[in-house]
Amino acid sequence: MGHSYVYRCEHCGYEEQFNQGHGFLVHSQPLKEYLKQRTKLFHYKTHNLLKQLSKQKNDLFLKAGFQVYICPKCKILKDKTEVVVFDHEKEIHKTSFRCNLCRTRLKLTNIHRLKKAKCPKCFKNKFQINHTIQQLWD
Ligand SMILES: [Zn+2]
Ligand SMILES: [Zn+2]
Repeated sequence: MGHSYVYRCEHCGYEEQFNQGHGFLVHSQPLKEYLKQRTKLFHYKTHNLLKQLSKQKNDLFLKAGFQVYICPKCKILKDKTEVVVFDHEKEIHKTSFRCNLCRTRLKLTNIHRLKKAKCPKCFKNKFQINHTIQQLWD
């Protein structure tokens, strides 16, 4: 289960929805189970990497979910599917993302604590959460 957060720019009215959490298709499971499925949920590069990892080791576990990231430079928010591969308790792979504007590595952000971000349309620091239209999904 996850949350949808709607951000709205007070300056230009631009709205965007961000997802965080685990959804119906994106959840934790043994890596082998995921690879047996016909649907590819992730970027093909991620998928190929997962395939390779599973060849190296048998009992890996895959955790995936939506996370909200922020560019530390531009302060623009992005939601991405984070993929983490575990070898028992040890984390052996984690996806990382870059900002499509400045190529800086995105940082995970705590959307509950984040008050304002930059609007991706007008770049004013007026992009904020709209509490009236939060949604739950599963
Ligand atoms: Zn704006
Ligand atoms: Zn950036």
